[in-house]
Amino acid sequence: MSTIPEMFGTMVFNDTVMRQRLPKETYKALKKTIDEGKELDLGLANVVANAMKDWACEKGATHYTHWFQSLNGTTSEKHDSFINPTSDGGVIMEFSGKELIKGESDASSFPSGGLRATCEARGYTAWDPTSPAFIKDDVLCIPTAFCSYTGEALDKKTPLLRSMSAISEQARRILHLFGKDIPQVSTTVGAEQEYFLIDKNDYARRLDLMLTGRTLFGCPPAKGQELDEHYFGTLRTRVSAYMKDLDDELWKLGILAKTKHNEAAPAQHELAPIFTTTNIAVDTNLLTMEMMKKVAERHDLVCLLHEKPFAGVSGSGKHNNWSVSAPGVNLLDPGKTPADNLQFLVFLTAVIKAVDEYQDLLRVSVASAGNDHRLGANEAPPATISMFLGDEMDAIIDALADDVEYTSPEKVSMDLGVAVLPKFTKDNTDRNRTSPFAFTGNKFEFRMPGSSMNVSDANIVLNTAVAKILKEFADELETAEDFSTAAMKLIKRTLKEHKHIIFNGNGYSDEWMEEAGRRGIHNLRSTVDALPAMLHEKNVALFEEFGVLSPVEMHARYEVMLESYAKVVNIEALTMLQMANQELMPAISAYTTHVAEAAAAKKAVSAALSIKAETKLLTALSEHADRMSDSIDLLAEAREAAAGAGDALSVAKAYRDRVIPAMEALRAAADAAEQICGEKYWPLPNYSRMLWYMD
Ligand code: ADP
Ligand code: MG
Repeated sequence: MSTIPEMFGTMVFNDTVMRQRLPKETYKALKKTIDEGKELDLGLANVVANAMKDWACEKGATHYTHWFQSLNGTTSEKHDSFINPTSDGGVIMEFSGKELIKGESDASSFPSGGLRATCEARGYTAWDPTSPAFIKDDVLCIPTAFCSYTGEALDKKTPLLRSMSAISEQARRILHLFGKDIPQVSTTVGAEQEYFLIDKNDYARRLDLMLTGRTLFGCPPAKGQELDEHYFGTLRTRVSAYMKDLDDELWKLGILAKTKHNEAAPAQHELAPIFTTTNIAVDTNLLTMEMMKKVAERHDLVCLLHEKPFAGVSGSGKHNNWSVSAPGVNLLDPGKTPADNLQFLVFLTAVIKAVDEYQDLLRVSVASAGNDHRLGANEAPPATISMFLGDEMDAIIDALADDVEYTSPEKVSMDLGVAVLPKFTKDNTDRNRTSPFAFTGNKFEFRMPGSSMNVSDANIVLNTAVAKILKEFADELETAEDFSTAAMKLIKRTLKEHKHIIFNGNGYSDEWMEEAGRRGIHNLRSTVDALPAMLHEKNVALFEEFGVLSPVEMHARYEVMLESYAKVVNIEALTMLQMANQELMPAISAYTTHVAEAAAAKKAVSAALSIKAETKLLTALSEHADRMSDSIDLLAEAREAAAGAGDALSVAKAYRDRVIPAMEALRAAADAAEQICGEKYWPLPNYSRMLWYMD
């Protein structure tokens, strides 16, 4: 058995492999491409492709694929074998630089939001050499971007890479002012992934889980998470075996799986990796989600990545820990010297302003039908964006904004004029768990993304919004006579204008909702409320200015997200109708018949026998069945009306305002019936058994 260091990254065409297998000159040129984001020439690509192919074939690979992230957020792959016929009727294994750099793909079946005319259905994929290739299931996977032939981005990676360049360029200008010339600044991400594991047999019996990823029916379990015993609790034997197996698979893929534990809800767990460069973090998170599902199969489990698989217990999120770093230096780490402190304050202030000005876009970046069950639904975090900095940072920000002297709890005073920050400890103790956007000592934790999401979207907005503010700062400071004084003035002025986005209290309270309203902070409760912000002039201009998304690309994404929302709710409604009509109503009938027959049998024996219990039960069953039947009719009507409601926004609104309430009504009636129906008659495994399954 090999050790973990020996096993780690064995399936990745990583730096070590490249150094071993590429001629020195090729290696150096490729490194330059990777480190400095330079273009790659074909000659170089041929050499790299051949080395990749040899390495992959030695590891049993037979095919390659350009692995990309279409607009539906998931990863896509089409496998081509390496075989090439020879004149003697045999084959050799070949892979050219051209095939590595660029692939062609029929793009017609991917969502494009109208970007692709049907006559030009082709798209192409382009290698992202900064994210390493890897082998999965005997296929060499090459992380790529996906564009239309006219150059519009059809994926989530392209704008992410563009946003990373944007923030790099602007951050470099700022660092230059501090006398530092740095070739590239990158953003880093550590995405904490929450998930549920349930028994495969339970899953197989639930059409709702199979088709929609969440339970659409189910009365609350007798025991939920109220005893707080699951969070950080001992792992079940089966779950522990799963997690070990998963770690092994991830380590082989070079993924830095670090932390694993039970989460708040029963059957809920979390995996956190060590952070890395944003595009790699996104790729590896997507791969992690895929492996989570695959490894579960081996353990007769199913991994649920939906934001809200079970009503009444916590849903799942994906905390996006984010920072900005120059090689070896975290720019959101408060420094030890006055100059470092000033630099830290510039970046911190830029993030505060960016989050305030583009709070609506951040909300859009985490909007989906699934995530609506978390955000704005009394679950961490709320849909209203605010930032938490911790008591000490907060006091410093206040002092700066009010231009008064700050005295730290240890009575170290700070002369704001020369930007000396007192040493302050990482504020890990009074973490505000309800805050959507929290500063955690040397990084920000954006807690709104949903567990099933591709966090490209969130990071595209973060990177671009911060790039915009850094640009404004650089424009102003580059012309200043005395840089430090001008920077301090800029920081104070900016904080004064934007510190209203900072809130350290309870993010769920009604008082905060009112207060947030007074402060002019958006309360975009649902996806449908949030999405129109994508068309607002300031937001379209932001992405256009930095070449991240053109107005056309932005509009296309708006269309895709709106349609996706309506489609998801539509599938849920149809699934409910099918289950209610074909499974639940017949179950209630069967049980009703059974009880009625029992009552009749009793009476046949003796008219004196009481059938009070049976009568009560039959009355209740009959009432619930009637309510279900009426709810089924209303849901069917609402769904039809919504589907024909007109333009995409009206359709999405109709699904939210008419279909979702009708679904809730049907569920309430069915859940009431479940509560009194004999278990062996009810066709669906119940919450108690699904959440508390045996090892
Ligand atoms: P928590 O208490 O939320 O688990 P941790 O300090 O363990 O906090 O970090 C959680 C995640 O944040 C991990 O994935 C970690 O790698 C990531 N992280 C730490 N530092 C950074 C950074 N500079 N940039 C991005 N992510 C980071
Ligand atoms: Mg966290």
